[in-house]
This record gives sequence, C-alpha cells and structure tokens, in this order.
Amino acid sequence: MAKEKLSGECRECAYGSRCLGGCSNTRLTMDGSVYGENRYCVYNRKMSEMKEHYAAETDREKLFRTGDALIRAGYYQEGAVALSRLLELMPESVEARLIRAYAEYRCENYEKCLSDNEKILENDPANLDALDGSATALYAMGERERAVERMKRAAAIPGSRQEEMRHNLRQMERAAVH
Ligand code: SF4
Repeated sequence: MAKEKLSGECRECAYGSRCLGGCSNTRLTMDGSVYGENRYCVYNRKMSEMKEHYAAETDREKLFRTGDALIRAGYYQEGAVALSRLLELMPESVEARLIRAYAEYRCENYEKCLSDNEKILENDPANLDALDGSATALYAMGERERAVERMKRAAAIPGSRQEEMRHNLRQMERAAVH
C-alpha cells in the first residue's frame, strides 16, 4: 500500500505515508474499498471542515496571511488548504502558488508540488524558485534525469542563488550515479 493509492483526504494527508489511512478494515467497511479514505479519523474530518470553512472566505489578504502563517508554523496541509482557496480566487498569484508548492512538498504530495511549479514555468520559464521546486519534486518522485535537467536550468541563471543551485545540481548528479 502507498499513500498515492488512497483516496480523499487520506491521499493528500501530511501523515499519509506513515498512517496509510489507518485501519484497512474501516476503509473497506466505510468506502467499500481498502483504497478508500478513513472518515472516522479526526484529522481527516478536520481537513474536510477546514475546506468547507475556507470555501466561504473571499478575503484574499486574509487567506494569504493565514496560509502563509500556518505554513511558516509547520502546519503545511492546513496552510495549503487556505492557499488553495486563494488560488481559486486568484489563480495568477505566483507567490501563493510557490508557497503552496512548498507546502505540498512537505506533505509529500510531490505531484501536486510539481504541478504548481510547472504552472508557474508555463508563463515564466526562468523562474528560479519554480525550477528549483520542480527539480526537487521530480527528484523525490524518482525522476532523476528530469530533475537534473531542470536543476541545470536553475544553475545556469546568474544571480545571488547561483552557487546554491550549482550545489544542488552537484548533489543530484552525484546521487544519480550511485
Ligand atoms: S487523514 Fe487520518 S486516517 Fe487518513 S492518512 Fe491522514 S491521519 Fe491517516
């Protein structure tokens, strides 16, 4: 069983790779499948309630501040929920998308992290944060060649973070040959 095979909140859960949706018999009984979600879980319910709560929120500044503060405090999934609502209202916000991408990475939702970074790169192919973020997500997904190619693009961009990107590239290339 892998977290990615679960559904609903369990599939996106920050604890999903360790918990794997809890008791499989509960999921089978509730959802008719061992790949279902565990809606008896308090955290699962809390996330569902948060989504409902934020669905009614239209204050963009409040959503950004809340999401950013939660993520800075280490509540990655909760922060991502607030920023997801903000991105429904403001899909063009690169700042919110980058922060959500980071939160998704910390929740081990690597495909979602990659998706956010890819979306930024569609409009800004030289966005350093998105190149770095997408390379890191690809690497975590086991797509090492694509990760190295992406990090090479990041390392070729002059600026104050160039040495950091070169260091990341060397690390990836070293790991790729082992
Ligand atoms: S939502 Fe609850 S049951 Fe599902 S993976 Fe997360 S902690 Fe486990």
